[in-house]
Amino acid sequence: MNELIHALRGLLGPSQVLTGDDVHQRTVSWFDHSPSQAAAIIRPASTEEVVQALALCRDASVSVVPMGGRTGVVAGVRALPNQIGLSLERMTGMEPVDVDNRSITVEAGVPLQRVHEVAREQGLHFPVDLGARGSCTIGGMVSTNAGGNEVLRYGMMREQVLGLEAVMADGQVVSSLRPLMKDNTGYDLKQLFIGSEGSLGIVTRVTLKLRPLHHSLSTAWVAVETFAHLPPLLRQLERQLGGRLSAFEVMWRDHVDLIAGQDSPHTPPLENNSAYYVLVQAANYHESERATFELALESALEQALISNAAIASSEAQQAKMWAIRDDIEQLTRKMAPSAGFDVSLPIKAMEAYVEELKTSLTHQWPQAKLIVFGHLGDGNLHLFINIGDAMDDAQRRAVERLVYSPLQRINGSISAEHGIGLDKKAYLSLSRSDTEITIMKQLKKALDPLGLLNPGVIFE
Ligand SMILES: Cc1cc2nc3c(=O)[nH]c(=O)nc-3n(C[C@H](O)[C@H](O)[C@H](O)COP(=O)(O)OP(=O)(O)OC[C@H]3O[C@@H](n4cnc5c(N)ncnc54)[C@H](O)[C@@H]3O)c2cc1C
Repeated sequence: MNELIHALRGLLGPSQVLTGDDVHQRTVSWFDHSPSQAAAIIRPASTEEVVQALALCRDASVSVVPMGGRTGVVAGVRALPNQIGLSLERMTGMEPVDVDNRSITVEAGVPLQRVHEVAREQGLHFPVDLGARGSCTIGGMVSTNAGGNEVLRYGMMREQVLGLEAVMADGQVVSSLRPLMKDNTGYDLKQLFIGSEGSLGIVTRVTLKLRPLHHSLSTAWVAVETFAHLPPLLRQLERQLGGRLSAFEVMWRDHVDLIAGQDSPHTPPLENNSAYYVLVQAANYHESERATFELALESALEQALISNAAIASSEAQQAKMWAIRDDIEQLTRKMAPSAGFDVSLPIKAMEAYVEELKTSLTHQWPQAKLIVFGHLGDGNLHLFINIGDAMDDAQRRAVERLVYSPLQRINGSISAEHGIGLDKKAYLSLSRSDTEITIMKQLKKALDPLGLLNPGVIFE
């Protein structure tokens, strides 16, 4: 390892190869505050440096863990002491926005928020947004196929990628940086790298699709008394807003109580006595569309699909509503020690699933707490579970089984948007068939026969 580190220093410069305390001072990730254990963290500044650094690691038979903003949820960046972390943090170049083509090409280490800012300056919008926007990187988001708050309208990261460049385990640079909407010329190789969590290649550059920037956003905090009203409310808003509905985020009441109750920096927009709250948002392209939004909520009120609504009257109020939904930091602190989950399931199965889970949890741990919220419009629920003041590994596994086991029966998925990483691989077979897993392994073997790139994520 020392020889490899010496060679990497020679290639990248001594300050771009962190070791010892400089590595340990970095936590594993946003969710795992233990010190990083990587033998070294290297910081190449260009695709060419990534190619050459990988070659040195390949020659030394040392595997590499790609690292973006380290905000991922499933331990995809947890490097071992015999591995090298490869951080894209210095690769933050951005080409000018191509206004005519509505696209932008950026290096993989660019934080999401920068893309939002630069697109907005040109009257354009990048439609993936999530709470970690200041830290998560475009490369990490591509590699996890991130979802976020606007999937309902625009789809996940996969739908925003026009082209990308990636370095393969054998050093080849595969580039499909063509800003084309249509390109049916054989296999769409870029798809291999989207959602494969750094296991098939290191994403170095990405061409992203941009959308027209809305004139304004209409945002409301809506109270709903029974789950049965949520699916028709969603359908009605989609219809009445003519496809402009961009968020339909549902929070179970316990979640709002926890985040915006006593001792909290947040104030709930409505009194907290309904079973569910929905953060509804629509993009307006014309001033008159604000009125359509209000009319849609009025009609939902008349039909008793909702019992109350607070419409944000300023951007500051919108931000306050989103701050409640996005305050994962307070959630994880107040629920600690907790296990977090990100499951997908048909909307019609959600209420029964949550009730069944609550029952099975409290049967085993009477004091268990379950917090539920999610991108309901996308069939995606986030669950946070606390079973008491401690949760050992065996208890965590038992909680995971209670959460995951019913999903197979109802055609759900153990990971809606966070990926599999190291944390969820034991359960992959609940969501993917043996044939699918075999083909994934064949692909990995064909493209990375030595297991150089993030070995152990997704499957053994
Ligand atoms: C507050 C908060 C809110 C969040 N909300 C959401 C949400 O709504 N929706 C959602 O989907 N996620 C959400 N996340 C999770 C996380 O932000 C996303 O998974 C994000 O895509 C990770 O980006 P990153 O740059 O931090 O990647 P990292 O965590 O650094 O890496 C994630 C994975 O990608 C690999 N990787 C990173 N960069 C590259 C690269 N250039 N090439 C190849 N592989 C690479 C890593 O090896 C790892 O396996 C949230 C996280 C936080 C902290």
